[in-house]
Amino acid sequence: MKDLELLIRNVQDFPKEGIGFKDITTLLKDADAFRQATKQMYEPYKDAGVQKIAGIDSRGFIFGGAMAYEYGLPFVPFRKPGKLPAETISESYALEYGEDSIEIHVDAIEKGEKVLVVDDLLATGGTAAAACKLIDRLGGIVVGVSFLIELSFISGRKKLDGRNISVLIDYDSE
Ligand code: AMP
Repeated sequence: MKDLELLIRNVQDFPKEGIGFKDITTLLKDADAFRQATKQMYEPYKDAGVQKIAGIDSRGFIFGGAMAYEYGLPFVPFRKPGKLPAETISESYALEYGEDSIEIHVDAIEKGEKVLVVDDLLATGGTAAAACKLIDRLGGIVVGVSFLIELSFISGRKKLDGRNISVLIDYDSE
């Protein structure tokens, strides 16, 4: 087993001053670590009856896609506005300045379907909370939200109150 935290590169002041960007590309370059991370991110839900993986644009596609392939599950994407070609629904969430939104195809989720939401990193929790709301609106059941990394000093978890969350690597300070 590898220490995955050692394979995350911190890039200070990217994309702007004051942000410590957690770069996962250094982990992805290591095939064993990539596979280990994917499996460990799924592990808490292996007996939860997951029927579909929903990955968040864009690094959630990497782990979510690998997970779907590994466990023989279907994959659906949450995307930034204007990227999905068919009919969508959308949820907005607050950013530090202004707001952003994510979308999903209306036919991506069946009613009562058990969905695992996947992203690389939990910061303010805005993106993941919006993703969960979209699953709720389509009548799906969010089994959990699986992240590789949590920046727990931001306390984004609060926005996901009542959801089942799992994280492999925690940063409790900047
Ligand atoms: P949030 O909605 O604030 O929880 O932001 C989560 C999304 O933004 C994830 O999809 C991450 O990929 C990205 N993100 C936010 N902060 C960072 C960071 N410090 N390093 C890398 N990615 C980040």
